[in-house]
Amino acid sequence: MSKVKFTTHHGMVDILPDEVKKWQFLERLIHGEAEKFNFEEIRTPIMEQTELIIRGLGQLTDIVSKEIFSFSRGDDNYVLRPELTAPVVRAYVENHLDQRGGSQKLYYIGPMFRAERPQKGRQRQFHQFGVEVIGSSDAVADAEVIAFMVNIYDKIGITNTTLKLNSIGDPESRKAYVEALKNHLKPNFDKLSDISQKRFENNPLRILDSKEEEDQPFIESAPVITDYLNDESVAHYIKVKQYLKDLGISYEEDPYLVRGMDYYTQTAFELISPDLGAQDALAGGGRYDLLVEEIGGQPTPAVGFAAGMERLLIACEELGIPLGDEKTVDAYIVTLGEEARSWGLSKLPELRKAGVSATMDYMGRSMKAQMKDANRENALYTIIVGGNELQEGKFTLRNMKESDEGSYTFKEILEKLVSS
Ligand code: AMP
Repeated sequence: MSKVKFTTHHGMVDILPDEVKKWQFLERLIHGEAEKFNFEEIRTPIMEQTELIIRGLGQLTDIVSKEIFSFSRGDDNYVLRPELTAPVVRAYVENHLDQRGGSQKLYYIGPMFRAERPQKGRQRQFHQFGVEVIGSSDAVADAEVIAFMVNIYDKIGITNTTLKLNSIGDPESRKAYVEALKNHLKPNFDKLSDISQKRFENNPLRILDSKEEEDQPFIESAPVITDYLNDESVAHYIKVKQYLKDLGISYEEDPYLVRGMDYYTQTAFELISPDLGAQDALAGGGRYDLLVEEIGGQPTPAVGFAAGMERLLIACEELGIPLGDEKTVDAYIVTLGEEARSWGLSKLPELRKAGVSATMDYMGRSMKAQMKDANRENALYTIIVGGNELQEGKFTLRNMKESDEGSYTFKEILEKLVSS
């Protein structure tokens, strides 16, 4: 009988222990910075109602029309969350988070799912961290959300980034702009790419995002949205730029920057890294003042961003930025004989209780093989125990880096390890 071989699904990867150390390092950094910004973590289910994602993101967006993983069970429709803004807003409305008072400054880290064509920096299960500030229309919120995003990359040492900024205005401004854009594109409709022709009626703004060569001349000569903003939208945009300056954050205005979801209004931004290749967006976000109402809440302004964890890791790799420490353990108890093994096992909890990470052989290996294993595990110290040591009540403590050793009682060993 041939053996069955199971593999992960296309575009979904295992994160193995050596990799997980890097993830944990980044996650700790994100939690730490969020605490400094006074943002609170929120965790929502991996699955949501399909209707929430359709309503939230927009029926005609790429994500909803092509990329969601959904299935039904009984009368319920489930979707694996493709992003977290709509789910966080759903949680905000469902749990009446507005009643906590003030604006809710929330952040998250977790897996998302999109059935995209996998390539470097693009997976079907990927991870995002992000922030949603719900309940403030003040441009300070936009600036702080951007500051948090930029700050994470600065802290990690990814400084070669460009913050692209735009305003896509409120619906009134956008309506005027969409009309101007369509008037501009219409005479050359036949020359546009197939995908842009499809978007022309339903989602013309996304044409600006096209990477197709034949579209480029028409995009480059297109009217810019910033010329169509009404007074209110202009005033908000000016404030965002002023507050970014106050925060010492530089940006590049890009009047053709649009985002993939329909819920965005006013501020739109992206953080780009030249170290990422084709998938060069580290993070992106914007204001979404209409989404809370769209999915059943009271009219509530909000702003947020989402950032890709995998792309962050790729950028670190490209730049040679080390993430976290090597695998190591403080103490490895090397034992000879069954009695010594029992002694070792009884000491593990004492070491761990004192804050010393400790392990021993799980495979009944020889002393020589245990020493080799301790080296492989990068043990800082070995505690060597045999019959003589047990009789004398003194054990060998070996500093593995400096290759020196001495004989001590267990109490002395514990003191030494705690203070080292
Ligand atoms: P979005 O939610 O589409 O605005 O994406 C925000 C960020 O998530 C992007 O800038 C990427 O860093 C990351 N991202 C989005 N889609 C994927 C994907 N399929 N695989 C890996 N990262 C992704």
